[in-house]
Amino acid sequence: MFSQALWIKTERDMGAPCPEFYTRFVCGEEPLRAFAYATAWGVYVLYVNGVRVGEDMLSPGCTEYDKRLQVEKYDITALLRKGENEISAVVSTGWHAVGHPAAEEPKYYKDRAFILEADVIMNSGDLKVATGESWLARESKYRSAGIYGGVYYDSTFEPYESVPVAVCGEPGANLIPREGVPIRCTERVSPVEIKTTPKGETVLDFGRNVVGTIEFRIDGPRGAVCGISCAEILKDGNFYNDNYRAAKSRIDYVCDGRPAVFRAEHTFFGFRYLRLENWPRKARLSDFTACKIMSDMTRTGYFECSDERVNKLFGNIVRGQEGNFLDIPTDCPQRDERLGWTGDAQVFVRCASLNYDIESFYRKWLRDLAACQKEDGSLVYIAPRCGWASSASAGWSDAAVICPWQIYLTYGNDDVLRENYPMMARWIGYMYEKGDGYLNGKHFGDWLCTDGGTDNAYIALCYRIYSTDIMAKTCRVIGLPDKAEEYEKLASESRALFKERYIKDGLPTVVTQTACVLMICFKAAPECDKGALDLLCKLIKDNGDRLSTGFLGTPYLLHVLSDNGRADVAYTLLLQTECPSWLYQVERGATTMWERWDGILPSGEPHPHSMNSFNHYAYGAVGDWLYGAMAGINVDEAAPGFKNVIFRPVTDPRIDYASASVGTKRGVIKSEWRRQDGRIDYTFVVPRGATATAYVEGRVMKLVAGKTRVTV
Ligand code: BGC
Repeated sequence: MFSQALWIKTERDMGAPCPEFYTRFVCGEEPLRAFAYATAWGVYVLYVNGVRVGEDMLSPGCTEYDKRLQVEKYDITALLRKGENEISAVVSTGWHAVGHPAAEEPKYYKDRAFILEADVIMNSGDLKVATGESWLARESKYRSAGIYGGVYYDSTFEPYESVPVAVCGEPGANLIPREGVPIRCTERVSPVEIKTTPKGETVLDFGRNVVGTIEFRIDGPRGAVCGISCAEILKDGNFYNDNYRAAKSRIDYVCDGRPAVFRAEHTFFGFRYLRLENWPRKARLSDFTACKIMSDMTRTGYFECSDERVNKLFGNIVRGQEGNFLDIPTDCPQRDERLGWTGDAQVFVRCASLNYDIESFYRKWLRDLAACQKEDGSLVYIAPRCGWASSASAGWSDAAVICPWQIYLTYGNDDVLRENYPMMARWIGYMYEKGDGYLNGKHFGDWLCTDGGTDNAYIALCYRIYSTDIMAKTCRVIGLPDKAEEYEKLASESRALFKERYIKDGLPTVVTQTACVLMICFKAAPECDKGALDLLCKLIKDNGDRLSTGFLGTPYLLHVLSDNGRADVAYTLLLQTECPSWLYQVERGATTMWERWDGILPSGEPHPHSMNSFNHYAYGAVGDWLYGAMAGINVDEAAPGFKNVIFRPVTDPRIDYASASVGTKRGVIKSEWRRQDGRIDYTFVVPRGATATAYVEGRVMKLVAGKTRVTV
């Protein structure tokens, strides 16, 4: 990629303003072809002769930079011309030099630096343009820019003088070609309403929570500073964004006296509402656009049923994924986190892999996770670390095992297991080596549950069993039967320990919904499942037919019920509208998944805790139950990648119709059922090259490619 280029930074730190690195060169003739490779420590936007290059946003994306920094290749042929040309790049702090307000390494602020090498091919000979000490820098109109803070853009600012650059290194081994899916603007969303709030603020409402940047048309007097700030909800009708915590998330724009259209770069926001401050004239809806951004993956999964509220829930789940899949799977897109929390990425991976083709997105992120693994095999709860020390936590670190396995199951490519095997094995090794030190260590536990919590060591042991089982299966798939046996033995030892510590009279001694769910789901003590299931149903009943599970129990809750003959209770939970429940959020107007079951309290007030995101996909994991149980599309572990589809729809009298489809490499799978005149019509579509096994009301059918209809 780089044969001559060197890293450059400004000789003296510019402080808040973003440097624009540039060079000028002459092409003696019209270039035939020209390519540039570039990346930055920070986030950069590349320009050739003042024209923005490409459509990718927030390059070079988010990775474990010291070990992996993505380099982009650009075709710049059309932007060069005969005569003098300029290549430049504005570099902001991005994730790299984020100065994260809450990071555990407060001195994370680092230099912004840039590297580029371009080959210009002409009839008369080739020209190489490469960053080095001959380049210059100038202050850009971005007087400050950052992921969390937003931007201050002064269109009156003219950089009168250039400043020297300093060479700050050679291209290192951390430079890698782009692996992830580029972040792009995938939709332009218009606001639906302009309100004047009780406090007299002017607020735009986009009608739904959007993640992206903002574009606006503006025409103000020279020097006027106009502001936009973001919020997800209103409080008492007024603008409210206390839940963004230290993320200022604003745009300040200095007008230059001429009409302009501005789209903020170098940042992104999670918002439904925008407050306009000191706006030069009466705001018009048509002056504003939310440019929704996400890693530009292919949509694969769709779901629909006869209950509109459940359809809204599904829409919220998909939007939650879209807004949080920005080069890495993040917890939330608005406050001062937006980090690759591993637990969140783990609980949501199955659902995510059906909604969208996330194979290369996750494979890239798993490499970042592996890059964060410590000497002793322990794994982090945030990857890439972005300045966080981050340590092991049950259910979070297990992402290292669960995610590769799910990617393998959904897409059928065992490469992902081979590649991640060392990370997986070292993580399992760590858990066993540390033994009780690990089990009794610090864990996030059943985060944000509503029942006071499930013993963390119990959760850690359940997850250890689950991860060890997956490891054994992985070894079988990739042809390591001896290793598989070792892991099977470890799993039985963990099961014996589980029984010794946590089973009394055939029941778990930890009495919570999550304790029952994990024990049954991970087969910790299968002979006690019946008792645990009855206990689970009783706990749900005693809680007013409501769940009380948090991040770790919720994803499996409905599966455990419907897989074990209590689909009635699963549907009761799904259709519950009292808090805590999924439809409680929907009925309170949620347009993405909330972090807390009670993000808005029954009183209508936002939850007083500042950790209160309205776009957190974790509880959206229920989406995989909508696909798998309600509509009935499941992976067959013995024939992954939907080579053989398992159709197992779970019906309920409260629902008249359900339908889902999943696009796969082989084609589109579809499952649908509809209640008609006291009977149920089932339709299954199997793509060419695949087979299916359908389980319908006690009957088992082998299906081949094509459409099959069954009425029962
Ligand atoms: C994040 C998460 C995360 C959790 C860890 C929160 O601040 O937003 O979603 O998993 O911390 O417990």
